[in-house]
Amino acid sequence: MERASESLLSGVNPELARRVRNMAAALSARGIEIKVTSGKRSTERQAALYANRANNPLPVARPGTSKHEQGLAVDVVPTGARTSSVWAAIGEEGEREGLRWGGRFSKRDPPHFELLGGGGELVIDDSKVIAQTKEQAGGVQVIAVFCIAALVIRLLRS
Ligand SMILES: [Zn+2]
Repeated sequence: MERASESLLSGVNPELARRVRNMAAALSARGIEIKVTSGKRSTERQAALYANRANNPLPVARPGTSKHEQGLAVDVVPTGARTSSVWAAIGEEGEREGLRWGGRFSKRDPPHFELLGGGGELVIDDSKVIAQTKEQAGGVQVIAVFCIAALVIRLLRS
């Protein structure tokens, strides 16, 4: 991609950057050129955008909650006509790369693409969730054993 886009891509998660490049190549083959208009944002930058959100036609996440602040989101726009069919093609190619597309958000944000799974971070979260679930399942088993023991004691006493 052209220099300004590459410069923005150099600041985001490398896996996200790789997929956006693939997406751009696939779109280029369809006659659509895109450029990256936003990559990783500092929390200060996100706060400034949020403060000015009334003037933004697109939704702006509260500072501290944007995937852009984690380097896990980019915004892209076509360099040519911004027709609905062009946006649909952009969404299609991004989703083909496994990216979550803002065009499907309840507050639509067609330029926005983010990496699912948090580039490794969510995997850790997932294992925590699995561990928690196992603990809870273990707890249920302990309760079941107590219930059965209580029943047995009652039966023996009667
Ligand atoms: Zn975005």
